[in-house]
Amino acid sequence: MNSDADKVPFLWRFLRGDIETSEFEKALYNDASYEAFFGNDFFLDLIENNYHDKNEVHKLKEKLKAWLGVNYPKKCRCIELRDLDYVDMTGDSETGYLSYMNTIHEIKARGGELWWLYLARCGECQQSWLVASDTRINDIFILKRVEEIDVEKILGDDVWPRDFDSYADVLVFGCKSGKQARFADPMNSPSLAWTMIDIAKEKPGMSVSYFAKLLNVDRTTAIALAEIVMKTEGIVIKLED
Ligand SMILES: [Zn+2]
Repeated sequence: MNSDADKVPFLWRFLRGDIETSEFEKALYNDASYEAFFGNDFFLDLIENNYHDKNEVHKLKEKLKAWLGVNYPKKCRCIELRDLDYVDMTGDSETGYLSYMNTIHEIKARGGELWWLYLARCGECQQSWLVASDTRINDIFILKRVEEIDVEKILGDDVWPRDFDSYADVLVFGCKSGKQARFADPMNSPSLAWTMIDIAKEKPGMSVSYFAKLLNVDRTTAIALAEIVMKTEGIVIKLED
């Protein structure tokens, strides 16, 4: 049974998709304290919902979000983010990424060659995040929730989670999330070449099709880029699969 203090985080986990709809439905039916928590009318509204209908679930989520906004207003947007999520750096910064990142401040850099990675904490809700900042290719911050026990390891012993230790992993996340940039003029976009060089050094012997997928360029462009960086950097990229 969720205490009232646990209910709000639980409801947000449902809203942002970190738990299945069925788990939320089960909690409503099995935990009698929800009726008092929501009040009779809203509770009835919630349990009468058809949880097998995606549109209805979507509408219910909107209603629940509005209810939480009124009854449990929040000072930051952390709770809206999935355990592993991204924030888009493009678009209107005030309503977009700054509305998340304004409260999330770096507390320790990963260090060494891994310039894109740091530990951060929200000044409002105290949630800690591992942040990978993809400013080179997809223009997104990738955020992963970090539990306090892991924060202590990072701050005390410099022992870090291994997520996003490679820039290739940062780009794979971009592919999976569907937030992949497409460069209008890839042959004149130095960040594509720099990234290809870094990843080729880190992962020798990868093929052009691997880079084409990672950098969201066509195969012909990937070959042309590879030929340039192989000549200038003396690295090896397989031109055949
Ligand atoms: Zn926060």
